[in-house]
Amino acid sequence: MADPFFFTWQSQRGARPIELTGGSGAHFETTDGRFLDLGGLIYQMNAGHGHRRIIDAVKAQADRLCVSMPNVTYPEKVALAEALLAKAPEGFNKVFFTLGGSDANENALKIARLVTGRYKVVSRYRSYHGSSMGAVSMTGDWRRTAVEPGLVGAVHVMDLDQEAGELPSGTQIPRTLALEENVAAVILEPIVGANGVLIPPEGYFQAVRSACDEHGALLICDEVLVGFGRTGKFFGFEHQGVVPDMITCGKAITAGYGTLGAVLVHERVARHFDDEVLACGLTHYAHPLGVAAALEAMRVYEDEGLVARAAEMEAPLRAMLQGLIADEPRCRRERVVGLLAAVDFDGDAAYLKRLSSALRERRVHVHVKGEKQLRGPGGALVLSPPLCITVEELQDGVDRIRAAMKEAS
Ligand code: PLP
Repeated sequence: MADPFFFTWQSQRGARPIELTGGSGAHFETTDGRFLDLGGLIYQMNAGHGHRRIIDAVKAQADRLCVSMPNVTYPEKVALAEALLAKAPEGFNKVFFTLGGSDANENALKIARLVTGRYKVVSRYRSYHGSSMGAVSMTGDWRRTAVEPGLVGAVHVMDLDQEAGELPSGTQIPRTLALEENVAAVILEPIVGANGVLIPPEGYFQAVRSACDEHGALLICDEVLVGFGRTGKFFGFEHQGVVPDMITCGKAITAGYGTLGAVLVHERVARHFDDEVLACGLTHYAHPLGVAAALEAMRVYEDEGLVARAAEMEAPLRAMLQGLIADEPRCRRERVVGLLAAVDFDGDAAYLKRLSSALRERRVHVHVKGEKQLRGPGGALVLSPPLCITVEELQDGVDRIRAAMKEAS
């Protein structure tokens, strides 16, 4: 019998779901056996599978206080807000809690509109900012065009050096801000994640920051995928040396053990609401189970040194992927930052399908991207393993990818 729920981002016929049963460290268990998780499920498993401390924290929270409503306080809510702000640059002083990454971006845009009195938002074609109507309107890939018309005032720029497969040193965003009027915010992933791991060159973010200042637009850094240690720094924008006005969080904020997102807001933005109404809110704002998972995840990142570990693993991972590229003629180049990596390869839709099946047969989970997301020909593998993965496990995973690519060719 067909499953009684929808599968996301795909037609329903012929879906072959894996049945998850558990996991530990860099592996997850299914009814078809044990998979090596080089994708970190969907980029959120930064502390690994089956993490006892986080599971126990959620259980204890359920016993202590399991329900809430938006405008109440309780100790874990305060502690989490303080812990998040302690990781943000100086001057950040407020947290707005959400249920995940999409509504974090939605609420950041609402805050920007309320503060600036403007309505437009500038983002890139190679981007994903979430699935709800506002967040998908800011998104650049096919998921936006599938459901248009969306938000009025969503402006996209194609910042990509096609030849190099990289972000260009000369971004179009300053020019766009000069030509458009009424821009409330620019929203960017500090390092583009699911759309192929694009790492900004020196000066890129500084140019965007100065243009935002010049034209009175706020800079929102979407840290939903790259935040919480993924790139070897706590937040991805720390690689760029700029300070945004708002930081949006989701995914690994709970290490995958709860449902939560957050917008961290700089004092220069937050102060607007001292006397003005913050027209934003959600029933499950700071739900205690998500908060407990996030608070313990933050402690685990610290205690297990996972951010530094992601930085240390960058060089071994790069060497392994360069070895793969040397062996596999379809592979063109790699981009690696911390434990986030992409390998671009040549291949059409039929190859991508064969590759996905071959990876599954070898019980390795990795994200396979096609031209709809890359906004250009070819494909890419995106890797984002749990930050606790060992060098041996990583090498095992890359070897499985090599074998799968050979079989699919
Ligand atoms: N922003 C980025 C960069 C993402 O990668 C995602 C999810 O993949 C989102 C936002 C949306 O987050 P969520 O799916 O939790 O709503």
